[in-house]
Amino acid sequence: MDLGISDKVRPLIEQVKKMVTDKIAPLDEEFHAEVGKTGNRFEYTARMTEILEGLKADAKAQRLWNFWLTDSKRGYGLTTVEYAYLAEEMGKTRLGAEVFNCSAPDTGNMEVLERYGTDDHRTRWLKPLLAGEIRSAYLMTEPDVASSDATNMAMPCVRDGDEYILNGEKWWASGAGDPRCAIYIVMVKTGTDADAKHQRHSMVLVPANSGGVEVLRPMEVYGHDDAPHGHMHIRFTDVRIPISDLLLGEGRGFEISQGRLGPGRIHHCMRAIGHAEAALEMMCKRSLEREAFGKKLAQLGANYDIIAECRMEIEQVRLLCLKAAWMMDQGDARAAAPWISQIKVAAPRLALKVIDEAVQMHGAQGISQDTGLAASWAHVRTLRLADGPDAVHRRQVARVELRKYTNEKV
Ligand SMILES: Cc1cc2nc3c(=O)[nH]c(=O)nc-3n(C[C@H](O)[C@H](O)[C@H](O)COP(=O)(O)OP(=O)(O)OC[C@H]3O[C@@H](n4cnc5c(N)ncnc54)[C@H](O)[C@@H]3O)c2cc1C
Repeated sequence: MDLGISDKVRPLIEQVKKMVTDKIAPLDEEFHAEVGKTGNRFEYTARMTEILEGLKADAKAQRLWNFWLTDSKRGYGLTTVEYAYLAEEMGKTRLGAEVFNCSAPDTGNMEVLERYGTDDHRTRWLKPLLAGEIRSAYLMTEPDVASSDATNMAMPCVRDGDEYILNGEKWWASGAGDPRCAIYIVMVKTGTDADAKHQRHSMVLVPANSGGVEVLRPMEVYGHDDAPHGHMHIRFTDVRIPISDLLLGEGRGFEISQGRLGPGRIHHCMRAIGHAEAALEMMCKRSLEREAFGKKLAQLGANYDIIAECRMEIEQVRLLCLKAAWMMDQGDARAAAPWISQIKVAAPRLALKVIDEAVQMHGAQGISQDTGLAASWAHVRTLRLADGPDAVHRRQVARVELRKYTNEKV
């Protein structure tokens, strides 16, 4: 098992690191300070477009683009282990992943379109997504059902001749607030309760500008709307789509969602480790810059221990992440699943701890808008829910563990 940095990815890490530090980080704050200046928080100002598109053009010109396309000829053909090192660097700034066209939920959606879309779907949606010209959203979660159990999804999708009709509500559609978001991948119920539990659902493509689609409001994360990305609450009223926009086949939505969420989950974890590294760096610098009671903050109380514990835990969790990535690279999704579940719990937990310690070392400034630590904490906290709450992943890990001691399903 080789979890190290390969010769192939080493120069890419250096290039990505340099771009994140020298070009993206200095503009990240200015981009976010522009939000809302037009009077609409989900509209880009000219300066926001200039910053983002300028950085993307720079990344593209250096061929630092679409690294996530691990097996495809169109990407770099990197392994998941190799990609992990790049995603960690991208996680250190808020704009990082998008600048390299590696952001959620687009990468997961592009994988779905690549694997399960028709030629027409690929031309209409995958091509502009790969070029970074449009964005997309993934709509599974519904307000009225416990959505950690995907078999609960209830939005009906009824066939009427050559069309399907959709009615219902979805919420927490990440990225659907962005004016560039052109396409939704939506989990719907095409079967009935008489069908097998995992064959009742399907995935369909719905253009964001379809008649009957209504974006009701942005859901807030601890009072923040995450504009211009947004996590939107959306209502569908008699939305009609052609039957050709159903992916793979009726009743096969579950199959697609399981394939989609694996890579997406681990990519979030890789970036969460980047959040932790960035926070530890800020904590160390702050503890050496400021003095209290005649000493540097680093030398007071248990601060050496805190810094050391953070470093040790980051190293442990990074190794777990790389092992989960390596398991994915072996090509057996079933065997990799409990490893992805382990890191899906461990990475956000670690990052939250390190960011919280960094906040503490910064005093009051740490919880303010001035350092980015509060925004980083709020974002990472959402990862304990998004793509499956901790409890669901722990259950998966425990079931595999217990199966070693019994032949029965537990
Ligand atoms: C910022 C953010 C972005 C998101 N983005 C998207 C998106 O783009 N698309 C999308 O479709 N969804 C998205 N989600 C929604 C997310 O995937 C769901 O919130 C999640 O699946 C949980 O569903 P739920 O909120 O209905 O909670 P519920 O299913 O009601 O679960 C609530 C709680 O019940 C407990 N629980 C559930 N199952 C078990 C179990 N097996 N064992 C023990 N306890 C259990 C857990 O404590 C769990 O947190 C996002 C959420 C957030 C916060």
